[in-house]
Amino acid sequence: MLAKLTLAQKIQMIGGVDRMYTQAMPSIGLTRLKMSDASVGIRTWGPTTADAGGVARAASWDPALARSIGEQLGQDARARGVNFLLGPGVNIARSPVAGRDFEYLSEDPYLNSAMVVPYIEGVQSEGVVATVKHFALNNQEYNRHNVDSEVDERTMREIYLPAFEAAVTQAHVDAVMDSYNLVNGIHATQNPFLNLKVLKGEWGFQGILMSDWDASYNGVEEANNGLDLEMPSARFMDAQTLLAAVRDGRVKESTIDDKVLRLLRTSLRYGFLDRPQFDPSDSTYSVSDRAVALEGSLESITLLKNEGHLLPLDAAKVKTIAIIGSDAWPAVVGGGGSSEATAFAPVSILAGIANLLGPGVHVLYARGLPEENDLFKNTAWEGDVRVDTFAGREFAGSAEMTHVQNVANWGRAPWNVDDPHPHSIRYSAAFLAQNSGKYLLLAAASGEDSYKVLVDGKEILTQPHLEGQVPLSATLDLTAGQTVHVEADYSPWAPGLRFGFGLAYEPDMVSPDAKKFAALADVVVVAAGFNAATEGEGHDRTFTLPWGQDALIEAVAAANPKTVVTLTGGGGMDVERWIDKVPALLHNYYPGQEGGTAVAEVLFGKHDPEGKLPVSFDRSWQDNPSFAWYYPIKGEDTTLHVTEDGKAPVDYLIPHVKYGDKLMVGYRYWTTTGKHPLFPFGFGLSYTTFGFAKLDVPATAVSGATVPVSFDVTNTGSVAGAEVAQLYVSDPSATVSRPERELKGFDKVVLTPGETRHITLNLDARAFSYWDEAAHKWTIDPGKFVIRVGDSSENTPLDADLTLK
Ligand code: BGC
Repeated sequence: MLAKLTLAQKIQMIGGVDRMYTQAMPSIGLTRLKMSDASVGIRTWGPTTADAGGVARAASWDPALARSIGEQLGQDARARGVNFLLGPGVNIARSPVAGRDFEYLSEDPYLNSAMVVPYIEGVQSEGVVATVKHFALNNQEYNRHNVDSEVDERTMREIYLPAFEAAVTQAHVDAVMDSYNLVNGIHATQNPFLNLKVLKGEWGFQGILMSDWDASYNGVEEANNGLDLEMPSARFMDAQTLLAAVRDGRVKESTIDDKVLRLLRTSLRYGFLDRPQFDPSDSTYSVSDRAVALEGSLESITLLKNEGHLLPLDAAKVKTIAIIGSDAWPAVVGGGGSSEATAFAPVSILAGIANLLGPGVHVLYARGLPEENDLFKNTAWEGDVRVDTFAGREFAGSAEMTHVQNVANWGRAPWNVDDPHPHSIRYSAAFLAQNSGKYLLLAAASGEDSYKVLVDGKEILTQPHLEGQVPLSATLDLTAGQTVHVEADYSPWAPGLRFGFGLAYEPDMVSPDAKKFAALADVVVVAAGFNAATEGEGHDRTFTLPWGQDALIEAVAAANPKTVVTLTGGGGMDVERWIDKVPALLHNYYPGQEGGTAVAEVLFGKHDPEGKLPVSFDRSWQDNPSFAWYYPIKGEDTTLHVTEDGKAPVDYLIPHVKYGDKLMVGYRYWTTTGKHPLFPFGFGLSYTTFGFAKLDVPATAVSGATVPVSFDVTNTGSVAGAEVAQLYVSDPSATVSRPERELKGFDKVVLTPGETRHITLNLDARAFSYWDEAAHKWTIDPGKFVIRVGDSSENTPLDADLTLK
């Protein structure tokens, strides 16, 4: 087949077409291949079954479930004629504010690997190519096209690469997607270390390495450094660049051939030339898919606090229930961006609880907070807001002055439109506090627009010019009679105004019906957290809950002590302001379309909560070990000048993020320092209790041999439930510094009351190894190891020493 193609045809084949296809090549019988996103369902081609995505899947700690979800996705893909699933995403959840953590899995490379292998196997067993992404070091969303992730090799090998490695070497994934960012100075799509040395060299990857959408910058560099397919279209690896480059020897024709062969071999292996990808025996809507989605959600919901055993609630005793908050209705299925799926039949938390309770129970719903623009419109400024409009984005020169009553222009930006008449606007207003207490300062803009909000000259909110954004808020303590001067400097990057800001007295901001309903209900559920607008692709999210929710929870808990909070979001978030005021807290991540049913079943004890945190839940963003290293080093931005024949030269401003937290990601930091997050990695409560006993570890073993570890887990409580037994390895005699403990095995067991299961986990050589920086290989230091077994990274009741010789 290759021999029948001209060079021009071969080059044509290594760029995509129509956003979601590879190029057809009728002369060799190859039709175009169809792709679809990904993280929660087959998104791109109509409504879908939406699963509990990435982080929720990891919270289930159930590889068999991951396999079922993979199979279900594969079947759904076949029913739509999809050849490539553009997932799974496996980037490490280094920081809770990273906008796509919800699509990924966990903070731990072992858990990610264990969950991703069966998932990929499931997808690919249905005749659909899985695409593991985003390779690599794409651990934040802000400025994702330009950020340079600077990471030492040991950290890469031990933390950030293992899930990709497992996807390739264990699951034999047939496609990999390179990320947008640079890694150690070179864009991923043209990075020889990642693509050639590691992926295709050491791991022996035989499939297709594609770019993320528009993650390409230089055709010759990409062609020579491992990229096989430029998506969504050939912008750099195009005929203009590559024909000339092959002619003058900058790119070998055999390099192009290798890319085409990868596409052909994969197509042949999957039978894409022999059979239609559409399989009429599969369904686009299926009741069994819904059952898998429900199972995913049930297994992931994690109970974090249950004071006085408020949960499970007794349905027979509830006559009136208040369900409050913006995550209660409509259903929040997933976060925002390219994974955002339209679920066929999403069940909101409100509907799930009402369905479970049936017709005899009064259900009272209140959103509890106003919409952004209403808060902006209702801000009672002292007099008018002065508006100074400057030509240019710098607030410089003379301004045109007008006045408005309020600034409530928040809305969606036109996508990727440059304003031909850049300008900047300064709003100045005075606010007189009528009461003493907490006031919420809120600002919101859209798209790439930037702003700063200053209160009495102090900068309180800052939104830089970036790819995307979420509303920003702060709490001000004001005294009755106090006047504050608020100034907002706003720069739109597209034509039109999409900006609002305002101030609200918190007790007045929480709707009266929320407080009234809470007071008269037997029990209250506040569904708090994020959604597709406040957490998603292209921007980071806040660690604090979206604006106003802290005040809402406080007000509701003050009205009714029986308040349960359920959180929606991709990881940890700030609960400090009210955690001591509510007796029960659960995390539902993004629970997919059946989330409401699952939350109801857990709250009312129809299902014992069994999720375990796949990320450490920090007290504050500042406490997170990556905090000091997460943002670019100030003043060290560099300019990357890209020129290519026939293309306009481009200068990219490259911010450098130094991964100085190294191996100390999540629980590795907490257990090594002996400090504690609010809730540790691996933690999750249950309505029953479990005991661990009889740890059996050989006293000595030969270094490199597989070491069996066995122990018993018993359900010591009175209801059936599932426990995740977690095995951590410590290496106190290592010659290099290592994290105090690392997860190297786990098993989830479902046990009836009184039942005991004997579990054996086998530790292979990698379980004891670290990456030796000098020797560039995995190394075991013989000597003492400690094996710990328990139910979280901080609670390991069993431990035993092992000496490796
Ligand atoms: C995302 C990818 C996605 C692709 C296609 C990109 O913006 O980063 O994860 O697969 O779009 O939709």
